[in-house]
Amino acid sequence: NTKTPRLPSYLKTTIPSGGSFAKIKKDLRGLNLHTVCEEARCPNIGDCWGGGAKEGVSDAESKRLATATIMLMGDTCTRGCRFCSVKTSRAPPPLDPNEPENTAEAISRWGLGYIVLTSVDRDDLVDGGARHFASTIQKTKQKAPHILVEALTGDFAGNMEHVSLVARSGLDVYAHNIETVEALTPFVRDRRATFRQSLKVLQQAKKEGVRVTKTSIMLGVGENEEQVLDALKELRKVDVDVVTFGQYMRPTKRHMKVDRYVDPAEFDRWKKVAEDMGFLYVASGPLVRSSYKAGEYFIENVLR
Ligand code: SF4
Ligand code: SF4
Repeated sequence: NTKTPRLPSYLKTTIPSGGSFAKIKKDLRGLNLHTVCEEARCPNIGDCWGGGAKEGVSDAESKRLATATIMLMGDTCTRGCRFCSVKTSRAPPPLDPNEPENTAEAISRWGLGYIVLTSVDRDDLVDGGARHFASTIQKTKQKAPHILVEALTGDFAGNMEHVSLVARSGLDVYAHNIETVEALTPFVRDRRATFRQSLKVLQQAKKEGVRVTKTSIMLGVGENEEQVLDALKELRKVDVDVVTFGQYMRPTKRHMKVDRYVDPAEFDRWKKVAEDMGFLYVASGPLVRSSYKAGEYFIENVLR
């Protein structure tokens, strides 16, 4: 099947304005923070930055429940996954040694309740950027101990010492995305990434005593039901706590095609299946991304 399916209406979203979203956006000016939310024009920005914004919820409270994702270590990745629009180079520019301090300072001044720190993969660095990552988390926690920090990392090329370094940095949630089922991994992710290696990363984080580990699966890239079930079983075996399911969206024509648009009812089914398998929390829906409303659900449900 070479035809690309048509985009269902529930995937068309508008960028919000007003309310606590506008305030959080205004606060961001001058902080020199680069959010994935804005730069990737994430369709969830209203939900994530809006926090629990609704009638009767104060601005301060909705800020406490708001989530943003910040990208560390530059905008150029040493890998090239077929679903990802980040630019690639074998030799990205060197790290900014002031980034951990500056990022931590900006996060503490911005004052959101939940921050996801993520990065491109840096296979060019001896430690894959693990020290840089860990230092950003430590400094953030020193300046603002009440802010929950999630690290969404790559696989550090399977080097478990580097995973441990990040896992022991004081974070609250360790996330690493398997992205897809085992059989499709070689066609979806960069060839240096494997499903088994990703399981080991998640297992290592848990061994280091991280309270919550988390992963994400994109649906609509060609997987079948049995493969998804198998993936979930493998994740449970290494005690992964949280899983999210979202629809794969093709960033440009140079990226892999969408195999199908998964019905919202199927997302609901996967949520139920995963919850029954013992995952602590499951977010599942067409627009769900790995960090989707993480603050709201972690603060309210998981890390109470
Ligand atoms: Fe930002 Fe992630 Fe939420 Fe998108 S899903 S707005 S990238 S925190
Ligand atoms: Fe994109 Fe991450 Fe793959 Fe790099 S490793 S290409 S940032 S998904």
